[in-house]
Amino acid sequence: MFYLQKMAVGFYGKWRQNAYFRNSYFLINKYFYMQVWKDYQARHKDRFLDELLELLRIPSVSARSEHKDDMLRCAEMVKQRLLDAGAAIATVYPTAGHPVVYAEKMIDPTLPTVLVYGHYDVQPPDPLDLWHSGPFDPVIKDGKIYARGSCDDKGQFYMHVKAFETLVQTNTLTTNIKFCIEGEEEVGSPNLAKFITTHKDLLRSDVILISDTAMLSMENPSIDVGVRGLSYIEVEVTGPNRDLHSGVYGGAVANPITMLAKMIASCHDDNNHITIPGFYDDVVESSPEERAMMAKAPYDEEAYKADLGVTALWGEKGYTTNERTGIRPTLELNGIWGGYTGEGAKTVLPSKAYAKISTRLVPNQSSKVITEKLLAHFESIAPAGVTVKASEHHGGEPYMTPVDSKAYRAAASAIRETFGKDAIPVRGGGSIPICALFEKELGVKIVFMGFGLDSDNLHSPNEKFDIFNFYKGIETIPFFHKHFAGA
Ligand SMILES: [Zn+2]
Repeated sequence: MFYLQKMAVGFYGKWRQNAYFRNSYFLINKYFYMQVWKDYQARHKDRFLDELLELLRIPSVSARSEHKDDMLRCAEMVKQRLLDAGAAIATVYPTAGHPVVYAEKMIDPTLPTVLVYGHYDVQPPDPLDLWHSGPFDPVIKDGKIYARGSCDDKGQFYMHVKAFETLVQTNTLTTNIKFCIEGEEEVGSPNLAKFITTHKDLLRSDVILISDTAMLSMENPSIDVGVRGLSYIEVEVTGPNRDLHSGVYGGAVANPITMLAKMIASCHDDNNHITIPGFYDDVVESSPEERAMMAKAPYDEEAYKADLGVTALWGEKGYTTNERTGIRPTLELNGIWGGYTGEGAKTVLPSKAYAKISTRLVPNQSSKVITEKLLAHFESIAPAGVTVKASEHHGGEPYMTPVDSKAYRAAASAIRETFGKDAIPVRGGGSIPICALFEKELGVKIVFMGFGLDSDNLHSPNEKFDIFNFYKGIETIPFFHKHFAGA
C-alpha cells in the first residue's frame, strides 16, 4: 500500500504545477496527504525524538559568554539538520553576537514562500538545585521531555524541521520554505535587526510562521493572535560609600535595600494599577466584544492556583486572569539583591542595592517611551540619603496578527484537520520582540502556531515539552503549508 501511495504522491509532485492534475488531485488529496505524511512520520518518529534530544544536550545559553563555543556548535548542528531534512542551501551567518542559521528550499518562485522563524538559544538554567535532572541532560518521564529548551524553542522550531523533512521526503511540498533560526532571542535579539535589514532579499516571503508560543491545552487548541511588548530596566541604589556595621550606623543612615523596597512597592497602588505617570496613556482598551470572546476560553481558577501552589491570585482590579496576562500591561520585579546573602548572619548596612524590573506592553504602547518613563520615574522618586541610577536593558514592541488573513486561516484549517476542532484565538502574554521589526522590514504578517503549554516551565527549572505535542506539531505543520498554498 505504501508504495502505491508513494508512487501517487511522486506523480503529483512531478505534475503539481499543472492545474488539471492539481484539481483532480485535490479530490483525493486529503486521504493521500494524511496517510503519506502519517506513514512517513510513524516510521521516523523515534529518530525525530532522538535528534531533538541531541540538540537539547548542547548548552546554548546565549546570555553567558562561556557558552560561546556551544552556541557555535548548536548553530552548526541546526544547519546540518536542515540540510539533512532537504534544504538546498543552509548557512551559518556570523553576527556581532551569536550566529543566525538560514536555510531554504525554493521549488517554484510562483508558489508562496513561508519563512519559519525560531531560536536555538536558551535561557540560563539557574537555579540548578531546583532541577530534578540535568538541564542539558534530557530525561523522558511520563511522556514529557525535561530539558532547558525542550519547549522554548528547540522542541518547537524542530517540529518545523521535521515537518519540512516530511514534505520534502514524500515529495509533497507545495510552498517554498525558508528558515531563519537565530541565537539571541533570549537576550533580546540585539543583532537580528541588522541581519534582517541587510538580508531583505534572502528573507523575502509571504508569511512568517513562528512556533514559540503555547496552546490553551491539547483539548482546547488555540492560536495566539498577539504577543506583548517588553521594556526592561535595572536600578542601582547607592547609600553610604561602604558597607557599614548595622549596630553602629543602623538607624542613622538610609539603608539602600529599604529605600529600594519602598520605591518598588510604590509602583502599584491598592488596586494593583501601575503608578508610573503616563504608563497607561497609549494602551488600546479591548472592546467589550473582544473581552466577551476571551471569556469563552476555558479557565479553571482552582486548577490554575493548584498548579502554581498559590492560595490566591493577584492582579489589576477590574480584569480577569486571562485579561491580566493578555490584554493588560504589567510590571514585574525579576530580581533584587544587595547586602549579605551568604550562609548564616552578617549584620551589615549595605552600601548598594539593585533590582531588575520589566514591564509587558500591549498595543499601542511603545517600548522606547515606556523605558524612558520608567528610568525617569525611578530617578525622580529616589528618597533623600541615597542616589539612584537606572539603566536600560533590551525591549520590544507588542504585536497583533489579523484573524482574517490567508495565513491565519491556513493555520486554523491545519489545526482543524489534526485536532478535529476549531482553534480559539487568544492573546499571548509573552514577548517576541522581533515580530514588529519583521513586519516593518519584510512587509508580511506573522502567524503564531505554538504547540507548547503554559505549564511547560519556560524559563524555569524543569522545563518540559510533551512528546505528544512535539509529534502533534510535526503532524499539523504540513497542513499549514498545504492550505497556505491553496493546494
Ligand atoms: Zn522562545
